[in-house]
Amino acid sequence: MTDRDISIRISKLYYIIMFLDDTIVAISTPLGEGGIGIVRLSGKDAFKIADRLFHSPKGKKISEVHSHRIVYGFIKDPATNDTIDEVLISVMRSPNTYTREDIVEINCHGGMLPLRKVLELVIKEGARLAEPGEFTKRAFLNGRLDLSEAEAVIDLIRAKTAESGRIALEQLKGRLSGKILKLREALTQICTFVEAYIDFPEEDIEISSKKEMMESAGSILAELESLLKTYEEGRFFREGLGAAIVGRPNVGKSSLLNALLQKDRAIVTNMPGTTRDIIEEYLNINGLPLRIIDTAGIRESHDMAEVEGVKRSLRAIEDADLVIAVVDGSEPLKDEDFEVLGKIKGKNAIIAINKSDLISPEARIHPSQRCGERKRGSAEANSVLNAYAARLINISATRGDGIEELKGAIFNSSVKNWKEQKEGIIITNLRHKIAIQAAYDSLGNALKSMETNQPIEITAIDLREALDRLGEIVGAVTTDDILNRIFSDFCIGK
Ligand code: GDP
Repeated sequence: MTDRDISIRISKLYYIIMFLDDTIVAISTPLGEGGIGIVRLSGKDAFKIADRLFHSPKGKKISEVHSHRIVYGFIKDPATNDTIDEVLISVMRSPNTYTREDIVEINCHGGMLPLRKVLELVIKEGARLAEPGEFTKRAFLNGRLDLSEAEAVIDLIRAKTAESGRIALEQLKGRLSGKILKLREALTQICTFVEAYIDFPEEDIEISSKKEMMESAGSILAELESLLKTYEEGRFFREGLGAAIVGRPNVGKSSLLNALLQKDRAIVTNMPGTTRDIIEEYLNINGLPLRIIDTAGIRESHDMAEVEGVKRSLRAIEDADLVIAVVDGSEPLKDEDFEVLGKIKGKNAIIAINKSDLISPEARIHPSQRCGERKRGSAEANSVLNAYAARLINISATRGDGIEELKGAIFNSSVKNWKEQKEGIIITNLRHKIAIQAAYDSLGNALKSMETNQPIEITAIDLREALDRLGEIVGAVTTDDILNRIFSDFCIGK
């Protein structure tokens, strides 16, 4: 542990003493009607508060119940003695709990009325309404989770496919943290070595130990580089792959969207924190969450003027991680088709030749030949078709033919290295990627200054910077700003 880590731990401790003294409460289940709903309390007064509200037929007291047991009884309003709900209460004693504090979970009947009433009573008895993510923040501040593990909790809650969930769970179990801690340990050794020479400048650096340090820095650099590479594809599993279905009106874009939606029920998520909640739809493509860009444009497109439809397509192409360009295979390609195809050059794209049900199998062509024969369109568009020859797929959106093949192509074209990467440690979070990139750059600079025999102080500054940036990932180095940004993204009650 470096001096800096120690001072950060001390300031964390101060924070804990100053601010974690109170007991927090929230409704931890989604709002609305349900079989049960849970009011969760965490903090030093959790048992005391529960005791004042809880009445067991056998006279049991929450404060006397063994840890990790459930008791049956009723919640009553102490002011009126009215029974509010029939409940089961889970009792979990510190430190073997999610927050490492005493936790009480009141399992109510799942309507809004009993839940709200119980929440109000708990607050009246002295608890404070929890902020978003505050239970998990406490788990972090009390050392049960590190920061990347805490972030994995929200990723797991929001996981869009089973594969996204698996990756989040690996992170929650500490695989990424373990790797970062190992790299930090190796870096700390180099730092200690370099700083020793700053403290004792009269001693000359031994050539052999300098060489050893440089080799060690080189191998940390290589490990950081391979972590960074996983982000390119890893991020799709957390955020979704942004796909644009493009083409001129009437080629079958909305029919294709419907075909995909039918097969792979949409996952609809709510993006909180915006003035108007944005609803996002995801398709599950063999475990890869696919987010369709500009769904509104697709759905309106057949009513749109050709020019407007094409304009919208071109805009969607710009923002996409993957373009699915649809053409109508039952008729000759038009200038508008070529316009769209011309724009996908250099993009990760698939061309879906739709309405295959209207064409006999022999006539199901390689459209580039057909375009050539008809001598329509630009040479550039023809060359695009040729370039995408391996990614031309005949489909019938209305009959569902070729949809499975299309899905395979979507997956393989976007996560090319997945087979090799999926077993390893994967970066999915932009915050982690930025920190690793910064650590990589600083360490690279440190290595360069060692190679060119720059003053050792310069090397030391870069090494410290690399160490701090890696520390940000697990939360060994953190600021209130970072914490607030991370935990405010959580839901209330988690
Ligand atoms: P968009 O304007 O590109 O979204 O096109 P639509 O999905 O609205 O389709 C335009 C027309 O083509 C509609 O009448 C669809 O029923 C029809 N269509 C779409 N896909 C197919 C297909 O695979 N086969 C056939 N025969 N018709 C299709």
